[in-house]
Amino acid sequence: MFSNRSSISTALESFRLDGRMLCYNSFVPKLYNWCLSLGFLPGKIMPSRAFCSDENQGFPIILIAKHFGAFPFNHGRVGGIVSIERHGPHADHGKDLLLVQASHVGYDPDTGEFGVYRRLRTEDETNSCACGKIGRIVEKYADDYTYARESVRLIRHEGRPAVLIDYLLIQPRKRGLFLVAENLVEGAGRELPRPVTTRSTGHVFRAAQTLVARLGEDAWPREGSVAIGAHLAAEDFYFQRENHWEDPFQDQLEQNLLAPMPWILTSRHPLLTAACANTLAEFERTYRSLLQSPVMRGKNLLFVAGLNIDISPRPGEDFPTTKFVPWAAYLQRTDGSQEILEQDELLERLRAAPCSNPGQIDLDRAIEAMAGKPEVEVRL
Ligand SMILES: [Zn+2]
Repeated sequence: MFSNRSSISTALESFRLDGRMLCYNSFVPKLYNWCLSLGFLPGKIMPSRAFCSDENQGFPIILIAKHFGAFPFNHGRVGGIVSIERHGPHADHGKDLLLVQASHVGYDPDTGEFGVYRRLRTEDETNSCACGKIGRIVEKYADDYTYARESVRLIRHEGRPAVLIDYLLIQPRKRGLFLVAENLVEGAGRELPRPVTTRSTGHVFRAAQTLVARLGEDAWPREGSVAIGAHLAAEDFYFQRENHWEDPFQDQLEQNLLAPMPWILTSRHPLLTAACANTLAEFERTYRSLLQSPVMRGKNLLFVAGLNIDISPRPGEDFPTTKFVPWAAYLQRTDGSQEILEQDELLERLRAAPCSNPGQIDLDRAIEAMAGKPEVEVRL
């Protein structure tokens, strides 16, 4: 998905949000009715979800249980990672299978800010990061990006545009932020050219003509130097790291975000972009694992991936107003036929499905009925 740097921004832009959000209250019954129209048997569908562990993912889970009549199998890890090693038990638990994957991002409707969520259960009902797991990963890389914005400086050498680059950014390393030198330095290829002069903490190189054309020569001060700042674009740098997790599933989220990280950090809403990037990566990875999984053969299976936007609740509200933005779906039938639905086709199928579901469970009544049952003795 993100193996080629030149296609990352196109991939991220392909995940459209405008006019493509569905309220969970209508998304889940539509999904249920779509499953029935595909030949899935009512009462024999085992729903499954791969959501983050955040409590604000609870409302979508309750709605899935209500409309599908079964509590969804837990297919997910923190951050919205799919546990692909759980396909076997999921397949064992139902005739027809549904898997919904969603990364999530909080939203404050008062400020329009993404990446925060009001925690009404905290003492001061404060906003905190959502998704927190994604937030912690992005924060780690943001420090390196902030350093690079300050430490690549526009300066003149003999009156001509040049760049002063901190030694830390050009020394050989195994991890950290690396500059795409040819975007910044004239004559740079795999290696940097000889500097035109050296300062106490960095080398000075002639500025690449493409950089001068991009920024305009007036961006260079007559005297002294200025930080390149926000002009350091996503195309100008990348990250490398050393893998150190023994459990690859613990590491999947950071692995998914590593290549698109420059686009995440330079976007208007980094945590929104990060959640979308994770969904793109997880759909593709999970789709391939489902294709290869022998336990899924001969099953009706619908896998839908998207983004959960958790709109913060206001005081007195029990749940967030969660919206789902579909990204893609994979459908296979018992006869072996397969289909991938891209975003707009998927949206069209969901929109065409009816919203009413007379078969939904009345959860209060179901709980009451369980409470009224004669007690079953557990024999030891
Ligand atoms: Zn989360």
